[in-house]
Amino acid sequence: MPLDSKKPETIALHGGWRADTTTGAVAVPIYQTTSYQFNDTEHAANLFALKEFGNIYTRIGNPTNAVLEARVAALEGGAAALALASGQAASAFALQNLARVGDNVVSSTDLYGGTWNLFTNTLRDQGIEVRFVDPIDPENFRRATDDRTRAYYAETLPNPKLNVFPIAEVAAIGREYGIPLIVDNTAAPILAKPLDHGAAIVVYSTTKYLGGHGTSIGGVIVDGGNFDWERHPERQPALNTPDPSYHGAVWVDAVKPLGPIAYIVKARTTLLRDLGAALSPFNAFLTLQGIETLALRIERHTKNAQAVADFLSRRPEVTKVIHPSRQTGVARERAEKYLNDGYGGLVGFELAGGIGAGRRFIDSLDLFYHLANIGDARSLAIHPASTTHSQLSPEDQLATGVTEGYVRLSVGLEHIDDILADLDKGLTAAGVIAKAA
Ligand code: PLP
Repeated sequence: MPLDSKKPETIALHGGWRADTTTGAVAVPIYQTTSYQFNDTEHAANLFALKEFGNIYTRIGNPTNAVLEARVAALEGGAAALALASGQAASAFALQNLARVGDNVVSSTDLYGGTWNLFTNTLRDQGIEVRFVDPIDPENFRRATDDRTRAYYAETLPNPKLNVFPIAEVAAIGREYGIPLIVDNTAAPILAKPLDHGAAIVVYSTTKYLGGHGTSIGGVIVDGGNFDWERHPERQPALNTPDPSYHGAVWVDAVKPLGPIAYIVKARTTLLRDLGAALSPFNAFLTLQGIETLALRIERHTKNAQAVADFLSRRPEVTKVIHPSRQTGVARERAEKYLNDGYGGLVGFELAGGIGAGRRFIDSLDLFYHLANIGDARSLAIHPASTTHSQLSPEDQLATGVTEGYVRLSVGLEHIDDILADLDKGLTAAGVIAKAA
């Protein structure tokens, strides 16, 4: 970064870029090119041999994407990053980079449904077992660990429960064994800094708050550069044994002169090369536009969501409000420990009238969009029991924290008076008043 600032507001505007050296352009150019001309044969050979870094082919790297990567890495306090076509690709690559057939990963049960599907079906079909444990007790991660465990995985602020994950506690257990903690920080950018608490890798769906405008699907993996992959070589064979797909390179040695970035270089030069989930530079540009205002937006999302949580908790149609500010005990302690300056933009609540009330509520909203996303500048609502979770049995719905009357809100940046007026309309239509206790 041209300016040596650690402040997210500044990094969001300046990280990874000052101006185009040829034209002086201040906005990051969209390098809409597939390929890059080599200076000469020696240059080409050096690039392919990783003796020097540079552009070869946009599937593996692109200058617009490189600014996004540098900016997100700087925001997280990491060493380097890799931009990908979606958050799903980021989660998949983050694990596939370490785990092979016969290996396993221990994951929190509290996950986005798409990640749950990836872990329980696709990774299993690829021979990687994901063992789910309840994060309420961090020691559950140790209990599920064996010699073939290659990574721990969790989300900082998972919905629908919104129970903040015990990052430092689980990261510390992993470090005893040489197991990195990978944290999906999609719902809590700026608010949480997983790497500061010992996580080794951070993943994002940039589709949500980072982009913010609901225009572009994307993902990023950030390498914290803070994990000693060589300390337990038997634990991390993917980085410590010769890689036949790259002339027998041992990744921890091959990129040592470039810094502590073996993990992310391997992800780029093998997984991205082979599986091809490359981010379009146009989407990288749009995501960068979003990131410029990220800190400001998160502040407003957080403020509006808090006002919504307070409003809902006063309403007779609502039996329960799910928001970190309403939590007690260990959940609240974790929210206070890991989230700075508020609790983010997500709020859940339960309606007294169950599924019928949930539907009436959603159908009568005018301002809130009814859609399956979070983190947009606009306010969004969904009734999981009749949509995203409708294929789950009632027992499985409950296990994931979804009751029949549960509604999830992603509170946007509109004026709070308009947000509350729309919710009032929905609650009035939902219409069932909870019985007094
Ligand atoms: N992680 C979280 C927490 C998400 O909410 C999502 C999408 O909803 C993803 C990952 C997947 O991201 P994408 O939709 O960009 O593939």
